[in-house]
Amino acid sequence: MVEGFLRREKEKKISKNPDPATGSFDALQLDPRVREGVLDMRYETMTPVQAEVIPLAIAGNDIIAASQTGTGKTAAFLIPLLQRLIDKERTKTRALVLTPTRELAIQIDETFVGLGYHSGMSSVCVVGGMPFYPQEEALVAKTDVVIAPPGRLLDHMRFGTFDLSSISYVVLDEADRMFDMGFLPDLRRILSQLPKKRQTLLFSATIGRDVLRVSKEYLRDPISVQIGRQVPVDAVEQRFFAVSQRNKIDLIMDILDDRAVESALIFVATKRGVQQLDRTLYKAGFSCDAIHGDRTQEERVVALEKFRRGEIDFLVATDVASRGLDIANVSHVINYDIPRDPDDYIHRVGRTARAKKKGAAITFVTSDDGDIVRRIEHALGHKIELQQEGSGRRRRPLR
Ligand code: AMP
Repeated sequence: MVEGFLRREKEKKISKNPDPATGSFDALQLDPRVREGVLDMRYETMTPVQAEVIPLAIAGNDIIAASQTGTGKTAAFLIPLLQRLIDKERTKTRALVLTPTRELAIQIDETFVGLGYHSGMSSVCVVGGMPFYPQEEALVAKTDVVIAPPGRLLDHMRFGTFDLSSISYVVLDEADRMFDMGFLPDLRRILSQLPKKRQTLLFSATIGRDVLRVSKEYLRDPISVQIGRQVPVDAVEQRFFAVSQRNKIDLIMDILDDRAVESALIFVATKRGVQQLDRTLYKAGFSCDAIHGDRTQEERVVALEKFRRGEIDFLVATDVASRGLDIANVSHVINYDIPRDPDDYIHRVGRTARAKKKGAAITFVTSDDGDIVRRIEHALGHKIELQQEGSGRRRRPLR
């Protein structure tokens, strides 16, 4: 059934322009207040996903967009949101953006504040781990745009503080990630209560069964947009080191000592592992901090901000941080623990070399990782060359 749907989609509704030329925002004839916001953000030309999605979305279409983070997808859904809603009456919540994580919600809100500065539209980020009542007040005041992961939003719906009846523009961002995290039932509860007459945009790095099923149920005659490949951009130099679990700590310290490694996002499999590595690096004098599920929301935001501003050089993280976080200027991504899934590898590595900046990804591979290495090779479409631990250290610069 799902395959049939996909086939029909392919025959009927795939965007005619799978590799669009990027172009000037002028061609969109945006409302001057929206155009000002784009100028403020210093976006000069549209990225491919923007060139493809924005005109279709402004025309009112439902869209399924296969697109990774780092491609400009946030603006691809926020610019049409602003353009379509700017002249609507300001007494009701008109748009809902659903995200897998709090961090992504906060980040989208920040982009909205920038892009929407001249629009006069308001937004609220409804996330757990932050006080309930200011959010409630904002919801009751019918803020124009609500940005949230499903969890806390459902609480507000239960308490009757969130009125969905006027929502006409819905974005499901990183839908595959939301499904991976088990949000599908929550998402259904929310989607089924939204007005039928609405526009829905779904963004997902991978278009799997769940995505197709949900789009069949909740999107109206969607247009599929696929931009780029599902592997990291060519600009990412990928290196793999064979290393024993015991020697990982020495290897990472040698790597971080290298001056070419200006900033690194370091992925570790477990919260405990993140804490341990963060502590060890910190004690050894590295400028680092950590984000993982056991830290409070505020601690995570502070750590992320310090990293963004360059106050710390290294951020140790679980996969919570791997998708959707807009961390500019990461020179290196280090997979201290190799991810269990090729998609996660691609997402993690996509944290570097963003918006045309060159980056490098380093992955530690232990003797237990053979299976996942083969799956990553399959996803990348080429063999992975393993460097022996120590062969590249100190004697040879990393880049
Ligand atoms: P995103 O994929 O939405 O996380 O965006 C990735 C990065 O690209 C963010 O730092 C954006 O500010 C930046 N960006 C988005 N659109 C453009 C554009 N048209 N020109 C230059 N940078 C952009």
